[in-house]
Amino acid sequence: MISRTISVLGSTGSVGTSTLDLMAAAEQNGSGQFQVEVLTGGSNVGLLAEQCRRWKPKLAVIANEAKRAELVDALSGTGIEVGAGDAAIVEAASRPVDWVMASIVGAAGLRSAWAAAGTGNTLALANKESLVCCGPALLERVRTAGGRIIPVDSEHSAIFQVFPLDAPERVSKLVLTASGGPFRQTPIENMRAITPEQAVAHPNWSMGAKISVDSASMANKGLELIEAAYLFDMPQSKIDVVVHPESIIHSLVEYVDGSTLAQMGPPDMKTPIANALSWPDRMPWPAPKLDLAALGQLTFERPDVARFPALALARDALEAGGISPIVFNAANEVAAFAFLDRRLAFLNIAAVIAETLEKATRDGLAMGTGSAAEAALAVDREARLIARGVVSALDMAA
Ligand code: NAD
Ligand code: MG
Repeated sequence: MISRTISVLGSTGSVGTSTLDLMAAAEQNGSGQFQVEVLTGGSNVGLLAEQCRRWKPKLAVIANEAKRAELVDALSGTGIEVGAGDAAIVEAASRPVDWVMASIVGAAGLRSAWAAAGTGNTLALANKESLVCCGPALLERVRTAGGRIIPVDSEHSAIFQVFPLDAPERVSKLVLTASGGPFRQTPIENMRAITPEQAVAHPNWSMGAKISVDSASMANKGLELIEAAYLFDMPQSKIDVVVHPESIIHSLVEYVDGSTLAQMGPPDMKTPIANALSWPDRMPWPAPKLDLAALGQLTFERPDVARFPALALARDALEAGGISPIVFNAANEVAAFAFLDRRLAFLNIAAVIAETLEKATRDGLAMGTGSAAEAALAVDREARLIARGVVSALDMAA
C-alpha cells in the first residue's frame, strides 16, 4: 500500500492530470492512499478548481495573478487556501511532503523544481528543462537534502529501471529511443509548410503542445540527451539515439559484457508516472499491456541529422557546457512557441537554436550570480532576448 503526502506542480497539464488519474486508480483498487498538500495550475481555473474539489489540497495556486479572484471564488467555502503568482508557486513547492510531481512545462518550472529539490522529498521530475538548465547542481541539491529524483520522462524512466545505480562502471552505453515524430518520413521540401496542427498530432504519444513540437523537431531528443547525461553521469559520446517508430522500447542500457537491457511497454505516459508514483513498489492500474505477436515487428533506424539538426546542436551544447545547455533550452522554447503562434516556420526552429547559441557565445553571455537556479534563469532571460531577435529577423527574411 502506497501512503503518501503529495504535491502536484502543474496538475492541470498532460502529466499532471495523468498523475491525479493514477492516484484515483490506486485509491480505487486499494493500492494507494494520498493526502494532497498542493495543486498548481497555469491559468486554467476551471480544471484546477475541479481537481481541488476532488483532492482537497491544503493549498491551490494559480500562476496567472489575474486569475486569483476567480480561483478564490471557485473555492469559496472549501477551506482551501489560495495563492497566485510565481512566488506563491515556489512557496508551495517548498512545503515538505513525501512526494512531489514537478510537471510544469519549460523553464517556468525551474524555480519550483529547485525549491522542491531542497526539501528532502522524493522528486518525480517530468520537467526536463530544469535538469537541462542546472542538472548537476539540482542533483547535488537533492542529495544534500537527503531526497531523491525519480525520472518521469519515459526514456529516463526506462533507463532508471534497468540501470545499475550502485555499479555504474558496468555500463558502456545508454541508448535513447526516439519515435521520430510525425515528420519522420516527410521530405525536406514538404517540411517548410508544416502547421502547428500537424506538429502537435504525434503518432504515438498524447502530450502538451510544447513537448509535441519538440518531438516533431527532435529538439526533445536533444533535451533528453542532456537530461540523460546529467541523470546518469554519462558523457554524450556514450549516449546513442536510435529512431524506433513504434515507441515500444523506451530506452536501453548496454553493459560492458555485451548485454543490453531494455524497458518496454505500450506508449502511455501513465506507465512511467505510475513507476515514479509507486517507486520502489509497483502499483496496479488498468494499464495497456504489450502483445508482441500482434505487433509482429519492431523497427529501428538512425536519426536523420540533416532534416533534424536540433539533436546535433544539443550534443554540441552539452559538450560545450556552461551556459550552452541553458541557451539551447531557452532558444528552443522561444522558437517552439513562436512556431505555435505561427510566427516562425517549422524548419527555422533549429536555425533559431543555432543562431542564438552562436550569438550568445559571441556576446560573451556569462552565468548569472546567486543559486544555480537563479544563475541559470539569468542566462535564460538573456538568451530569450537574443532568440526573440533571431525569430523576428528570420520572420522578416521569410
Ligand atoms: P502541459 O502544457 O500539458 O502542462 C504544463 C503544466 O504547467 C500545466 O499545469 C500548466 O498550467 C502549467 N504551466 C504552464 N506555464 C506555467 C507557468 N508559467 N507557471 C506555472 N505553471 C505553468 O505540459 P506537459 O506535456 O504535461 O509537460 C510537462 C513537463 O513534463 C514538461 O517539462 C515536459 O517536457 C515533460 N514531459 C511531458 C511528457 C508528456 O507526455 N506530456 C512526457 C515527458 C516529459
Ligand atoms: Mg521523453
